Amino acid sequence: MPPLRHRKVLILGYRAVGKTSLAHQFVEGKFVECYEPTVESTYNKMVVVGKDEFQLQLVDTAGQDEYTVLPHSFIIGIHGYVLVYSVTSLRSFQVVKTLHKKLHESRGKTRMPVVLVGNKADLALQSREVRTDEGKKLAESWGAIFLESSAKESQVTMGIFMKLIEEIDRVDNSYGRS
Ligand code: GDP
Repeated sequence: MPPLRHRKVLILGYRAVGKTSLAHQFVEGKFVECYEPTVESTYNKMVVVGKDEFQLQLVDTAGQDEYTVLPHSFIIGIHGYVLVYSVTSLRSFQVVKTLHKKLHESRGKTRMPVVLVGNKADLALQSREVRTDEGKKLAESWGAIFLESSAKESQVTMGIFMKLIEEIDRVDNSYGRS
């Protein structure tokens, strides 16, 4: 049997975009309606992708904004990032742009595995502020994966973390490591 591989990933984004809801949906398979700002929580989950098994450590961070100074713990030992904005909040879209820039600079401008997530897609009809093509274009400019999601939907949420694990392997291999 191949060895269990460890992956540590961070969920980042402006407050109330659905970071905790996505983490809960992924780990517990449930959507939680109430809103309590997160300090920082870590979840562990075994994930199977293809033939490989991963011990995924997921860190749900307190929300950031344009002025947040990213701590070293957001860089060192982190394999990949889920950057979340809400499709109902232009401000949250601006914030992910700043966050990506800061991460990219702190990581020495090397290629980093990122999934950009436009969450709350279920509210898009009533209150969309960020178009799908804007999210897609931004992710393309980073060389990242893009998805719109609703934390109410377990399959879509699952897909975010599966894709990130695949992307971590892809970026690793393109550097000749595995
Ligand atoms: P966080 O601060 O980014 O961790 O955001 P939360 O996960 O705490 O979510 C903030 C609020 O948005 C809560 O009331 C959630 O129930 C709600 N929420 C989160 N994700 C979604 C979603 O995909 N769709 C809808 N309709 N509400 C969501």
